[in-house]
Amino acid sequence: MLLNEHEQVMFCSDKKTGLKSIIAIHDTTLGPALGGCRMWSYVSEKTALLDALRLSRGMSYKAAISGLNLGGGKAIIIGNSATLKSEKLMRRFGRFVNNLGGKYITAEDVGMTTRDMEFVRMETPHVVGVPEHMGGSGDPSPITAEGVLVGIKASLKHQFGSDDVKDKRIAIQGLGHVGEYLLKSLVKEGAIVSITDINEVKIKELVKEYKVKAVSPDKIYQEDMDVFAPCALGAIINNETIEQLKCKIIAGSANNQLADELYHGNLLKDKGILYAPDFLINAGGLMNVYSEMNGYNKNHVMAMVNNIYTICTDIYKRANQENISTAIIAKQMAEERIKNIKEIKNGL
Ligand code: NAD
Repeated sequence: MLLNEHEQVMFCSDKKTGLKSIIAIHDTTLGPALGGCRMWSYVSEKTALLDALRLSRGMSYKAAISGLNLGGGKAIIIGNSATLKSEKLMRRFGRFVNNLGGKYITAEDVGMTTRDMEFVRMETPHVVGVPEHMGGSGDPSPITAEGVLVGIKASLKHQFGSDDVKDKRIAIQGLGHVGEYLLKSLVKEGAIVSITDINEVKIKELVKEYKVKAVSPDKIYQEDMDVFAPCALGAIINNETIEQLKCKIIAGSANNQLADELYHGNLLKDKGILYAPDFLINAGGLMNVYSEMNGYNKNHVMAMVNNIYTICTDIYKRANQENISTAIIAKQMAEERIKNIKEIKNGL
């Protein structure tokens, strides 16, 4: 378990609404712990806790490497978002968030919508990603997708010498909020895209609209592709899938893609597959809500998103020089920033 790495973990339950939630605050050195709230039908409470711990740590790294003054946190709600979610449940969750007095700031994640954040906002000011009419920046997913595209381009430049996505074969796993925006941009820029999702209805619609190829979820790893873009759930880069992968680049939005960041990061390196650190290239949404906290400015957001290219390039350069996987270099760079700022704050 990662429990000794976290500042605070709060278990919240409410029988009347059916709410069962965990709020994990990893580190607040750089600022308040910001991270979305995920609603998922976890197989066990232990799995849910592990997810909250891993995701909140990822948020600390994401904010740190992106140069934001934010700490890392994450909330999870256990249950089926399609059947259990209600105004009452979301407002109850909002009250728990409020009890933390701003140490944790919530936002939307998998299983959540801006409408849900509206309900949370009714109980606490410590929420971002609320709709525009409530003074928020709305759905962060299009900006997250922009950042992933920037990350793909920086990775193409490193592996192929050009960052042009035209005619590059790119497979997207997960066509949800982020995946669909990414699909749209890639098709617009001339990439040859294949897609997969467990939601067959959605896939049918998208194949019709974008004239792209559909692949079944279990076959996606064997697809002939230059770039694999995981935009569904975590831990999908593991022993079983790495063996099947033929791509040159992995760059997608899903959090915690590597089942074991050290071991699988090294396996990818040895196989010559460039891994774009997920917590960096999916930081666009975080940059968007960060701007919301400081008076929203779209130009500033896009400048931060475009800077993902430079940070990726620095990581790849350092990884080559030190012969270490990109996943570990990115983590080290994030930890270095947190350590440096901690020293300043402690007056060292
Ligand atoms: P989403 O719930 O809208 O979409 C996820 C999609 O993945 C769904 O369409 C789902 O059917 C599909 N999926 C689930 N399991 C699958 C499987 N085994 N094979 C294929 N498809 C599968 O979520 P989202 O907001 O698009 O986020 C996607 C990922 O990106 C998540 O890991 C999320 O944490 C991460 N992320 C999202 C944002 C954001 O701004 N939304 C920001 C940072 C990171």
